[in-house]
Amino acid sequence: MKTLNDFDFKNKKALIRVDFNVPLNEQFEVTDATRIVSAKPTIIKILEDGGSCILMSHLGRPKGFQDEFSLKHIVGKVEEVLGVELKFIADCIGDEAEAAANSLEPGQVLLLENLRFYKEETAGDKAFAEKLSKLGDIYVNDAFGTAHRAHASTTIVAQFFEGKKCFGSLLAQEIESIQKVMQTGEKPVLAILGGAKVSSKITIIENILDKVDHLIIGGGMAFTFVKAQGGKIGNSICEDDKMPLALEILEQAKAKNVQVHIPVDTVAADAFSNDANKQIVDIYAIPDGWEGVDAGPKSIAAFDKVVQESKTILWNGPLGVFEMESFANGTIELGNSIAEATKNGAFSLVGGGDSVAAVKQFGFEDKVSYVSTGGGAMLESLEGKTLPGIAAILE
Ligand code: AMP
Repeated sequence: MKTLNDFDFKNKKALIRVDFNVPLNEQFEVTDATRIVSAKPTIIKILEDGGSCILMSHLGRPKGFQDEFSLKHIVGKVEEVLGVELKFIADCIGDEAEAAANSLEPGQVLLLENLRFYKEETAGDKAFAEKLSKLGDIYVNDAFGTAHRAHASTTIVAQFFEGKKCFGSLLAQEIESIQKVMQTGEKPVLAILGGAKVSSKITIIENILDKVDHLIIGGGMAFTFVKAQGGKIGNSICEDDKMPLALEILEQAKAKNVQVHIPVDTVAADAFSNDANKQIVDIYAIPDGWEGVDAGPKSIAAFDKVVQESKTILWNGPLGVFEMESFANGTIELGNSIAEATKNGAFSLVGGGDSVAAVKQFGFEDKVSYVSTGGGAMLESLEGKTLPGIAAILE
């Protein structure tokens, strides 16, 4: 795996695909700079080596040129985060972009305009990628959030940098974290899958059964498993058509010696609302008119035991409707358990969608080993897919 350490960037121009797809408010101010902060180590390392950086990114989903999606809006924030003055150019290819790149001195940073102003970017157009490739000497991909897309700047451009391409430090960290869970992690390995739907996680479950020793199935997903085993789940969410599959997964797990842990009790609510009445019930005997919205205390205690015994932990998906304060407890308690296990030496990776939001919301970000920056890319990695952006560097 080629990383930044395999190159000397002195007097070299690094063409870096970053993920600066940050949220903006109505005044076009950056409201969450996490992605810019995440890209900083790579950029600073190259500058300290004596190189220069040409940053390329997308922002939103523009249809052709649309001023509101211009990366000019984020220049100030990027300068503030990097502590470096930025040059900005209102295009990402062509004469002007090439002239700007050519005139860069070591230590300087150039930000190109939104790649997606050209439809060729998402189409993975080779001619467009070749134009991008003219801007730098070494290609660095540091955008995990788009690594599952075979776009021009994330994948196709790499073919013009034979022997001169590598992963940025963020992307390298993401890859290493996933490898720890899927291949190299210390046993016992535990995966915790929660969230709303079984259907969106089936491929992950099937792939992960070969890698883990324990599997916790929580959140809304659990009710399909409970009903499939003959439980009464009241109004809880359930995908009836996935019940046979749920049973099959349990069989597969048994055959593979994976211990599956399903909640035994649940917080049931009489409405899908924060101020609904609630009671704790056996998850296999939820009264009519009530629905399971969070993990109950027995389940939380049982999950904590498994977490504390695990040395490698993957967490994807909340244990309840954590967006509502009344039903956030299970997710918070799981976060506490994982934080404690991490403190005691376990490796913990949180990735894919809503668990990342939960971890940030409840302040666990610094208490787990790694929080992934890529939703879809993380999910596809867990499904066992080779991401095109990663493959393009390895080729
Ligand atoms: P996912 O994107 O698959 O990780 O699903 C996350 C969503 O699952 C969150 O919006 C949660 O509110 C929701 N969720 C978790 N547990 C439940 C539950 N018991 N009933 C309904 N929705 C749930």
